[in-house]
Amino acid sequence: MSTPRLAEMLQANRAFQANIDVQRLPKRAPETMAVITCMDPRINLEALGIAGFGADGSGNSDVRIIRTIGGRADVRSLVIGTFLAGINEYVVLMHKDCGCCLAHSKLDVIRQNMEARLAPDQRERLGRFSDTEFAEWLQTFADPYEAVKTEVEMIKSFPFMPTDIVVHGLVYDVGTGAVEVVVEG
Ligand SMILES: [Zn+2]
Repeated sequence: MSTPRLAEMLQANRAFQANIDVQRLPKRAPETMAVITCMDPRINLEALGIAGFGADGSGNSDVRIIRTIGGRADVRSLVIGTFLAGINEYVVLMHKDCGCCLAHSKLDVIRQNMEARLAPDQRERLGRFSDTEFAEWLQTFADPYEAVKTEVEMIKSFPFMPTDIVVHGLVYDVGTGAVEVVVEG
């Protein structure tokens, strides 16, 4: 189904193709670091020196970026990132004012919204989750400083992670642009 937003994106893509130099598009490059961070669009990775793209389409950073709600690690990305892409240093970058913290205090709202919008068989499936299971499933958290410590430990103790993997835990302040190191890997 086409939507106005999709149409805008496709129009933007035509302008993009007209403006870039395809020779300058990023090539696959070796890189040993990945940043795991939140999908929140306010997180500007230039705060960590990870530059965006040039107007000509050129890429200025090879650092892998894994974005999920809250910046919780994704097992598939850890396995493929570590054992195929060659990542040996992860930075978990969580942030203040995170939607995952908001969700932590609004689990009942999320559940009510799901019940209102899902089809009957989907609602029935949702009903099998206890509130505790629902909270665990969504992996929300109240405090990014505590959550980043937990996440670093989770990655390091993942059964398929090499013992020499380096994992740092940082918290970004979306109000000031400041980054604090909570765990130095
Ligand atoms: Zn967030």
